[in-house]
Amino acid sequence: MNQERVMELVRELLRELGEDPDRDGLRKTPERVAKSWAFLTSGYRADPHTVINEAVFEAHTNNMILLRNIEVYSLCEHHMLPFYGRCHIGYISRDKVLGVSKLARIVDIYARRLQIQERLTALIAADIRKAINAEGVGVVMECRHFCMMMRGVEKQNSVMTTSSVLGSFHNDAATRAEFMSLLRTPAPP
Ligand code: ZN
Repeated sequence: MNQERVMELVRELLRELGEDPDRDGLRKTPERVAKSWAFLTSGYRADPHTVINEAVFEAHTNNMILLRNIEVYSLCEHHMLPFYGRCHIGYISRDKVLGVSKLARIVDIYARRLQIQERLTALIAADIRKAINAEGVGVVMECRHFCMMMRGVEKQNSVMTTSSVLGSFHNDAATRAEFMSLLRTPAPP
């Protein structure tokens, strides 16, 4: 990402919005915005497969592994406005498991790109399944979208839920039910 070029574009945008990019409060804004966008879109410059591959461990378990309440901050590709919320990941391994912090890293890499929540959910599930040849994977995401809250229909309290279930989470109703009931278990204080 060419920071100078982005700064130029932000200056132009400010002018077009009716602002004076040279007034005191805005003088450093193009630089701040460029830095901020570099971080918020850093997922384009990170490779989820490298991250995953360095965190795959041998483990012969056939139990469900669940990580709940992973914070998600992303940007909708339709309005470039934030959406944020939580992601819950469950999987049943065959002979490999993933380092727990890497599950959160995978979420961040895909979230720091322009997204729609449906695709973000599906990408995370598909990558985890592929990386460890999991018997099944389930990902549930609950987010609030600023493009609905601040503009358009201005609905502040609606939460969008998306899910992606693969393998046994898709084919086996009992497995899916176990996943859904574990998601509802109260978290420790
Ligand atoms: Zn949107």
